[in-house]
Formats: sequence, structure tokens, C-alpha cells
Amino acid sequence: MKTLVYSSHPFEKSFLENAAQPTIDLTFTDLVLNLTSVKLSKGFEAVVLFTADLATTEVIEQLHKNGIKYIALRSAGYDHVDLKKTTELGIKVANVPNYSPFSIAEHSVLLVLSLVRKLSKGQALMKKNDFRLDELIGFDLNGKTIGIIGTGAIGSAFARIMHGFGCRLIACDPIENKALVAQTKIQYTTFENVCKKADVISLHCPLNEETKYLFKQTAFEKMKKGMIMLNTARGGMINTKDLIKALNDGTIAGAGLDVYEHEKGIFFENHENSMISDPLFETLRTHPNVIITGHQAFLTKEALQGIAETTICNLVEWSNNGTAKNELKDS
Ligand code: NAD
Repeated sequence: MKTLVYSSHPFEKSFLENAAQPTIDLTFTDLVLNLTSVKLSKGFEAVVLFTADLATTEVIEQLHKNGIKYIALRSAGYDHVDLKKTTELGIKVANVPNYSPFSIAEHSVLLVLSLVRKLSKGQALMKKNDFRLDELIGFDLNGKTIGIIGTGAIGSAFARIMHGFGCRLIACDPIENKALVAQTKIQYTTFENVCKKADVISLHCPLNEETKYLFKQTAFEKMKKGMIMLNTARGGMINTKDLIKALNDGTIAGAGLDVYEHEKGIFFENHENSMISDPLFETLRTHPNVIITGHQAFLTKEALQGIAETTICNLVEWSNNGTAKNELKDS
């Protein structure tokens, strides 16, 4: 199966090559899929996409014209693909639903610990030979209430770690995870209650019409003063302008973000010699109480291997039977 891998990065190429099977013929391009680069897909049967690729309605129409039958996503999230259009045109799409959830869960733990123990500030002082501790008082996570939005693969891995820290866990998710309740005594409650009661809120649900800007001013107004906000899911779930307001008025004491609502075109690329013309991102990035990582929560060897193996497996299943078990349906 002739397959074009868009947005291919040096960090993942060897994992994909090692997982490749003789029936899957991979060609790599570092170009992001868009209305211009879509022309490269002519002559291929399948494309492999990254989260930075934009499979919009128009791009999918072009992929279809070029003969693309299959889209394999190197991600769990699929908010960057117009599934209505792919379904209408009969293009099959599959994701990687379950690669190391620990990679993302552990990254969320990294963010929360860095914030509550003021790691960035401490490192900056250390580099200046200033070893005073007065500005570095943190707080224990033990005994604090952690609110988790979405207790699927990643949210439940995060919950188990925080349970080990001695935290009280509350969550909202339309599907209750009974095994997680038994293991961690997590209590399911409403979104409002999570906002009101949590000392730390961590996002682990998909971005869709329902969750777009789930966290905006009306949600921030309900929160405990001095809470910590974590987002390793998708940037579009937080209204960044409102987040900055909540950081400035002290409602939110710290935000740990691996994703940003307008990250496309910024993250995954080298902008050393160019300007980033996004004042909102600049305000967020330079805020003293914000830590941003560039969508790297998934970046562990185990996760990259899992992504590569499942991606190839999806392509092999299509090549053998025309169907794959990880196929996504438009809901
Ligand atoms: P999952 O499907 O296993 O779990 C998602 C959970 O969210 C489900 O239990 C679902 O019922 C719940 N949910 C859906 N709508 C909800 C809502 N409105 N409120 C509360 N809960 C809701 O998915 P996962 O593997 O745990 O991944 C979660 C998200 O993490 C993905 O959708 C993706 O966007 C993001 N992600 C980010 C990275 C990264 O590198 N930063 C990597 C992988 C995944």
C-alpha cells in the first residue's frame, strides 16, 4: 500500500521505519498537510497524519480526488479531521486509541509538581547565584482535591498516580469508570462541582463541539482562589483570554499547559529566526505563573513505539481486509 506520511519529524521516523511491514510502502514528507501540500498525495492510497495536519473539508475533498482511500492518524485525538466529510466520501480514518497513556499522565504530574514547587522560578534564581528560598514556598499535594475532566485511558492513569500522592479525587465524565472508583475512591460529580471543589483541575477529554471552551470565564468564576489548571488534552477546551484574566486576578495560581488553542503553525516548528505573530501566546508564554510545553506530553520512547506499531497495524489491516478495528465513525 503506497502511503505518504505528512508532517514527518526526525523524532518519530525511525519508530515508523522499524514498525513498517513489507506490504506498506512508506514515503515521508516534513510538509504539513494543507490545501497546498495536498497535491503530494496523488498516486498514494493512504496518508498518515499528525495532529498539526489539517484535514479540513476542502483538504479531504482534494485527498479524495487524488485517490486517497485511507487516513491513518498518529494520534489518539481526531479533532483535526472532518469526519463528516471522510464518511460522506467513503475515506476510512483510524486513530491510535491507546498508546502509553502514562506518557501524557506523567507529563501532567510533571506540570503540577513544577507549578506547586515553583520549579521555573527556583531554577532562574539558582542560575543567578541567588539561593534564597523566600519566593519559593509551595504546597503539599497530599490531601488536596484533584478534579479530573475525562477519566478514560489518560485521565484514569493520572488519577491512579495522584491517588498514590494521597490526593482526594473527583471527576466528571459521562461514563463512570467502576474499576477506577474501586481502586482510587474517585467520586464522580458535576462539572460545576469539580470547578468549585478542586485545588487542581486536569483536562483529559476529547475536544469536540461540547467541550470547546468548556473552561471560560463562567467556569473560572466558580473556582477556588489559588487553584492550579492543567491541560494536556487540547488547547481549544480553554478560552485563553479568560484564562489570562483568571491568572491575573489570582483565581488561578498556576497553569500548566502542553497545548494551546492556536498552536498550529507555532508548535513542532523552529521559529528561532522568525517572529511569532500571536500576542495572546506571547502573553501566556511570558506569564510568571504559566508553564507551557510544546505539545510534547506524548514524547516518550514507549509512546512513540506504540503510535508507530498501531499506525502500521491500521494500514496492514486495511491492506489485508479493507477494514481496521480502530476505524473512527462520525458520531
Ligand atoms: P479516552 O477516549 O480514553 O478518554 C476520554 C474520556 O473523556 C472518556 O472517558 C470520555 O467519556 C470522556 N469525555 C468525553 N466527553 C466528556 C465531557 N464533555 N466531559 C468529561 N468527560 C468527557 O481518551 P484518552 O486516550 O484518555 O485521551 C484524552 C485526550 O487527550 C485525547 O482526546 C487527546 O485530545 C488528548 N491527548 C493529548 C496528547 C498530548 O500529547 N498532549 C496525547 C494524547 C492524547
